[in-house]
Amino acid sequence: MEEAEAGAKGASFDGGLFGDGLVSAPAATAKGKRRGAAPKGPPARRIRVLLPLPLDTPGGGAYDYRVPVGTALPEPGSFVAVPLGGREMLGVVWDGEPDPNLPEGKLRDILGILPAPPMKEALRRFVEWVAAYTLAPPGAVLRMAMSVPSALEPPGQQAGWKLSAAGELAREGAPGYRMTPQRRRVLEAMQPGEPRAGADIADEAGVSTGVLRGLADGGLIEPALLPRPRSFARPDPDHPGPSLAEEQEAAAATLRESVAKRAFGVTLLAGVTGSGKTEVYLDAVAECLRQGRQALVLLPEIALSSQWLDRFKARFGCAPAIWHSELSGRLRRATWRAVADGEATVLVGARSALFLPFPNLGLIIVDEEHETAFKQEDGVIYHARDMAVVRARMAEATCVLVSATPSLETLTNAEQGRYSAVNLPRRHGSAGLPEVTVLDLRKVPPERGRFISPPLIQAITETLERGEQAMLFLNRRGYAPMTLCRACGHRIRCPNCTAWLVEHRAQRRLQCHHCGHAEPIPPHCPECGAEGSLTAIGPGVERVQEEAAVLFPDARRLVMASDTIPGPAAAAEAARQIADRQVDLLIGTQIVAKGWHFAHLTLVGVVDADLGLAGGDLRAAERTVQLLHQVSGRAGRAESPGRVMLQSWNPDHPVMQALVSGDLPAFMAEEAEARRPGGWPPFGRLAALIVSSEDERAADRVARDLGLAAPGGEGVQVLGPAPAPLSMLRGRHRRRLLLKARRDVAVQPLLREWLSRVEVPNAVRVQVDVDPVSFL
Ligand code: ADP
Ligand code: ZN
Repeated sequence: MEEAEAGAKGASFDGGLFGDGLVSAPAATAKGKRRGAAPKGPPARRIRVLLPLPLDTPGGGAYDYRVPVGTALPEPGSFVAVPLGGREMLGVVWDGEPDPNLPEGKLRDILGILPAPPMKEALRRFVEWVAAYTLAPPGAVLRMAMSVPSALEPPGQQAGWKLSAAGELAREGAPGYRMTPQRRRVLEAMQPGEPRAGADIADEAGVSTGVLRGLADGGLIEPALLPRPRSFARPDPDHPGPSLAEEQEAAAATLRESVAKRAFGVTLLAGVTGSGKTEVYLDAVAECLRQGRQALVLLPEIALSSQWLDRFKARFGCAPAIWHSELSGRLRRATWRAVADGEATVLVGARSALFLPFPNLGLIIVDEEHETAFKQEDGVIYHARDMAVVRARMAEATCVLVSATPSLETLTNAEQGRYSAVNLPRRHGSAGLPEVTVLDLRKVPPERGRFISPPLIQAITETLERGEQAMLFLNRRGYAPMTLCRACGHRIRCPNCTAWLVEHRAQRRLQCHHCGHAEPIPPHCPECGAEGSLTAIGPGVERVQEEAAVLFPDARRLVMASDTIPGPAAAAEAARQIADRQVDLLIGTQIVAKGWHFAHLTLVGVVDADLGLAGGDLRAAERTVQLLHQVSGRAGRAESPGRVMLQSWNPDHPVMQALVSGDLPAFMAEEAEARRPGGWPPFGRLAALIVSSEDERAADRVARDLGLAAPGGEGVQVLGPAPAPLSMLRGRHRRRLLLKARRDVAVQPLLREWLSRVEVPNAVRVQVDVDPVSFL
């Protein structure tokens, strides 16, 4: 999971930054001593600096500082080093007037200005906007935009060696130099005028670095700076790509036009799975590059994007810059800086990429815009799809929201004219949409203790016999979601959460999918002590794989779940094996549902189509349709037609019917009509307060006080407090309140006022979740 790029590390920094990095380094050191005695500067030398700290102070993390005489006044957006208490910190010169009433003696001098491109006005306004909308302190949001403090230093250069004049002569075989075979090989590994890294030279020559030192002492080679590698190649918009089909071209023309306007606008790019949406929006990226602006593509699961990256390379001749939480420190730093310098022209990333310092952003694509992965649930709680629209507005850029199953929010915005929309109604090439059927488990149940019903077994057998690939989908990791004692009925729970422990049989462990708690599978019931009485209840993908091994012993099987596919390389390798037909039967969780294009995959079996429908979540039906439609969309993407079988105990459920008919617009229209009368999103606003504490009574007390202080009035309603469905998480007791308001009510001022009326002790945390997606 993508994490907020914060942590204490992001906020402070060590003195290492002070070297030659600071523009006014010499003036920086003596500051502390001169304070107070300093000549009174005119107030014009005061500036406001926002610090990347989650401070809930009235200034929201902004403090006034003085710029010492002799240092040029930094422009707004400049990165500066300042003292704070006994620490040195980096911050950003912020807009707004410093407090003129602050006595001179209370002001401290900035320590220096960093030689990094100042943060653009568009990003500063975005930081403020996100803070105001989510009720996060501005400093907490700034911290996301300053996630790589080391990137503010001047880009370092690596040192290596080059031939000296004498070395060049010696290399040509001039006499008079002490030569050994090793020394000769070193000189031969070097070219006049071309510095190389010592390790590379030693490698090629097959010598130790001691030989290099000897040559340096003899004056034959000398230290030299290596040229900086151009690690960010420029995608070429005119690189020959696939020629677009007629409908694609029409959609692409609309997007290109919007990009060329260099003004804010949002377009929904809808279109069935496999209709070629990606090629269409890549064409918009090309237009953005021709306009000389930067493009950002947000993907929900960047680790699963190997096929996407291949297509990008095919279209543009090189890879884009990439941004996600698992980048190495060096690459993270280089990428941040290349974005700030405008050197990285296309960046594909996870949601945190929205906070990168693009100086010249012209286009943001949000692919699979309906995905809940775009919602960040901790730290600053924000929805990257919605914030992408805001970021685009601040940058006067185009935003394109892409999906085969757009969210009701986005559909409604398109319907009401706030967003424009283009649609691709057919699959690319000769492929048709797969035929979807529901298997009524009441009529065709699986054998006792099994999970795959006879008609699905039959269909898989036929598919495999034809030499095609099949996929079994179950959105649940592990072997079994619950372990039950047959003797006493005890179920094994997580000690820290309101959750059952999930059996992972391969690892012989029980695991909590919420907090990560793991324990060995006990030999006897922890409650009654009965031996051999523990039974696995229900299936996870491991168990389906076990069943498939019995049913289809000759099929080459591959399980794809987040614990068997730990990272981008593993995902790319799995995709390669499937594409190369080294796999016959794929078994996977939601990580196989999205984006993949496997030409020979023609059958998708959904083991438990009812899985997402339980629970009272507002969007349970919408989300189930989206997920199952995406999974179905993996079938029959090339010449051979695809089919999909949904195993369900509820075959008449509107979700199953929508999937069978394929008429998603009709389903979404019904969803809209179900939500409209009650004023549920997108027809009304929601904000959740989540109260949590290790101390249950304290959590209850604060929740009750919040309930008593709840705002009311026209078009405003507060539900709760109530125990959260996950009433305990990671050892914290959780209570929820939900504010529901009419669309024309601004909820942020209400929330602010509400929170200000309740005292919250340190042991209790109150999180604000505006536009909640999860109700757990
Ligand atoms: P979507 O994103 O709408 O699900 P894709 O963009 O993945 O669809 O396209 C489906 C398949 O069709 C992919 O294999 C893609 O490479 C191919 N494709 C799409 N457009 C073209 C085109 N204009 N020329 C050739 N192949 C295309
Ligand atoms: Zn747990």
